[in-house]
Amino acid sequence: MKVFRVPRLIDGTGAAPLEGAAILVEGDRIVAVGRQADIGVPEGAELIEREGVTAIPGLIDAHVHLAYSGIPHSRAFRAELGELSYPAIALRAAGYARDTLRAGFTSVRDMHAPGGTIIDLRDAIEAGAVEGPRIKACGLGLSVTGGHMDQPGWADHSAFTDLTLPCDGPEGFRLGLRKQLKRGADFIKINACVGARKDPAVPYRQEMTDAEIEAVCTEAHALGLKVASHTSGGSGLLAAVRLGVDTIEHGHFADDEILDLMAERGTVLIPTFLVNERNFEFTPEEQGISPAGWRWLKAARAAKWDLMPRAKARGIAIVAGSDTGFMLEHGKRNAEEITLLVKGGLSPMEALVAATSAAADAIEVEAGRLAPGLYADIVLVAGDPVDDIAILEEPSKLEVFKGGRAVAAAA
Ligand SMILES: [Zn+2]
Repeated sequence: MKVFRVPRLIDGTGAAPLEGAAILVEGDRIVAVGRQADIGVPEGAELIEREGVTAIPGLIDAHVHLAYSGIPHSRAFRAELGELSYPAIALRAAGYARDTLRAGFTSVRDMHAPGGTIIDLRDAIEAGAVEGPRIKACGLGLSVTGGHMDQPGWADHSAFTDLTLPCDGPEGFRLGLRKQLKRGADFIKINACVGARKDPAVPYRQEMTDAEIEAVCTEAHALGLKVASHTSGGSGLLAAVRLGVDTIEHGHFADDEILDLMAERGTVLIPTFLVNERNFEFTPEEQGISPAGWRWLKAARAAKWDLMPRAKARGIAIVAGSDTGFMLEHGKRNAEEITLLVKGGLSPMEALVAATSAAADAIEVEAGRLAPGLYADIVLVAGDPVDDIAILEEPSKLEVFKGGRAVAAAA
């Protein structure tokens, strides 16, 4: 048994902070949360008492790619995936998982990985063989042939075949889904629509047919799995929401009609600000981006900032997802997304909800709140994130506990 005693506690639900708080932990679960006087210190319990800290739930990043290194050049990104064997990808990802956990992220959702590598990493972490966050993994993302996750050069030249899984037609997608389930997927990732770069007036294109999206959603929901979709805007995004996709990733160009429907259906928005901002830390040449691609990125960035107040006004659940691994280094950058959510219009407390309880609900982990029965995933922040949300970007200010156990500090 352990008792955490802290001057201030934020439980992740958006409730006002609790002063003079204590958390009672037995094994890897929280047993009780309350005032120090009410919780006491049971005989034999280990006391973890800190001055000047705020206890918050372990952070959750709902959109990462542990199989990717964060390399910014688009061609190098594809080439290194094609060159690495599955074991090499998994071993490299184990280091990224450790870095992510040490940065305060005790749960993540992985949004596509070659060869089921991150499913195996998830299991190795669960078995205690490797240090890392709780992982929810989709296996391979499902894409139409030649689609967003089956772009030229993605698989044809590589040493292995399932770098991605192209599917076509409702039956094709059903088969793809069942293959991911067989491999151990926790949820299904699809690519309903993508960014289109040729015509600035129409910056998105529906990629899966309505029948394909519907087949995935119907089958997944019947099996108790959620569906996440990479999206950009237009008819594909509208269809994704209408046909039952649970989490909308990116959603750059969502118009008011789409947002109204998301609010009505309880669809979650994961805007992934950070990856859009990241593009502008480099020149187009450094990323291997064409003039049309650069124009699209600028339009997508502007649309994303415009999206937030409209989503917030409708009460749509907004969740923190960084897209780390894609152009961003694991661990070092994930928390910047939380700061950007505040820049986008959420209050610091709302941004904390987006990175804890709302994220836990979206990715289905028994964490994200400091509440009895849940995993004792706790971060002690040296300061108050409500006063200064960017403090979460500094691993040296965070003491991380996963399942009640102290995680080794970052070197
Ligand atoms: Zn992504």
